[in-house]
Amino acid sequence: MLYSNYPSTSSGQVMKYSKLFGKTVREAPKDETSVNARLLIQAGFIRKEVAGVYNFLPLGLRVLTKIANIVREEMNNVQAQELYLSALQKKESWERTGRWGNFDALFKLTSNFEKEYALGPTHEEVLVPIVSEFVSSYKDLPLYLYQIQTKFRDEKRAKAGLLRGREFLMKDLYSFHESEKDLVAYYELMKKVYKKTFSRLGLDAIETLASGGTFSKFSHEFQIVCESGEDEIIYCPGGDFSQNSEIAKVAEGKQCDLGHGPLKRAKTIEVGNIFLLKDKFSKAFNLRFKDKKGAQKYVVMGCYGIGISRVMGAIVEVHNDERGIVWPLSVSPFDAYLIVLGDAKEHAEKTYSELKKAGIDVLYDDRDISAGEKFADADLIGIPIRLVVSERSLRQASSRGGQAGQAGGKIEFKKRTEEKIELLGFKDVIKNLRQEG
Ligand code: ATP
Ligand code: MG
Repeated sequence: MLYSNYPSTSSGQVMKYSKLFGKTVREAPKDETSVNARLLIQAGFIRKEVAGVYNFLPLGLRVLTKIANIVREEMNNVQAQELYLSALQKKESWERTGRWGNFDALFKLTSNFEKEYALGPTHEEVLVPIVSEFVSSYKDLPLYLYQIQTKFRDEKRAKAGLLRGREFLMKDLYSFHESEKDLVAYYELMKKVYKKTFSRLGLDAIETLASGGTFSKFSHEFQIVCESGEDEIIYCPGGDFSQNSEIAKVAEGKQCDLGHGPLKRAKTIEVGNIFLLKDKFSKAFNLRFKDKKGAQKYVVMGCYGIGISRVMGAIVEVHNDERGIVWPLSVSPFDAYLIVLGDAKEHAEKTYSELKKAGIDVLYDDRDISAGEKFADADLIGIPIRLVVSERSLRQASSRGGQAGQAGGKIEFKKRTEEKIELLGFKDVIKNLRQEG
């Protein structure tokens, strides 16, 4: 999956459901046990290739892109520069760090021309040698580089849909500093940035102390409370404490030191993880710089990951009901789902083009099928606002003699999360849509 910076608005594109590639299916896929994969497949966002590998159809790509673009914005805000590194990686670099032999999930490829490669699960081995070409003085530091790219990991179990892929999309940022003090300051800043980023994505992420794996003593994970998660945390409901239960020394039920009551245990999904790498990789690749006094020192590093495709799965796990997905507007494939019913096509077409003119991303269900089927599809796909133009809504306009908006007639306005239906003129529809955003 070569990932490109696909635009997240559809201005100019035809977005009629009858033409959209990838339709809903009534029947749940038999080989999927996770909620996210089942709903995303039924609603026409993704298709499975093999276990842990998914294809993204147009709707799915729109969501993935919106998530990526929010993350991208937040990384750019903290002076990180985007680049794009190779997925096929040099074996020698992996041997140099000792990870060719001990990175459990490393995919190794043998080419037809007798060469072996790593298929990138992460990118320290690729990036650090490149950075060493450009960094030689304290004046070149600090430096923050990131990418949004496909990762490959030979995961043992891949039954959780987008939550655990063998091929998946990750944002990985690497920071380079002249001192640990500077590294720690950026690491602390990144905690805040992560919290904000996840909140923009509709996720309430709990910053959690975790083991540092092979890198360091500890790391920080960003965990989403969810029954289907594979992780578990012990946390304070007051929000001042959380540890991954694999490492936690405290027990559930212990009173929070700050008086928020007993600590709780919860199943969670890890959507992000940040590490202090210090000089582990700069030593392996001799990444050094001259400090102000002219002494040669190793650069210290941090790394910061967010699972973009896992976030998409986590959003679906958290935001759904018995009828389907309920997208937060920030990542919804469209702002609104417009349905035409009965003999109102002319008005619906007009409403559709007026909405587009007003800058609203609208998916227009123009099919000749029953109202029930369209409503069911709208709920399954999960776009936050549903608009209906029907003979009834048009009659409503003339009988009340009400303001007949630019597109003429009234429009039914309904939120995916509410049962209430309002009859609004075009201008009020636009006003409400803008308020939602
Ligand atoms: P896990 O413990 O879930 O296996 P990890 O700790 O090995 O993940 P990191 O190396 O910290 O993962 O990767 C950074 C982020 O990438 C994770 O926080 C997660 O959001 C995402 N990620 C990791 N592995 C996968 C995977 N197999 N499928 C989808 N996303 C993943
Ligand atoms: Mg992790």
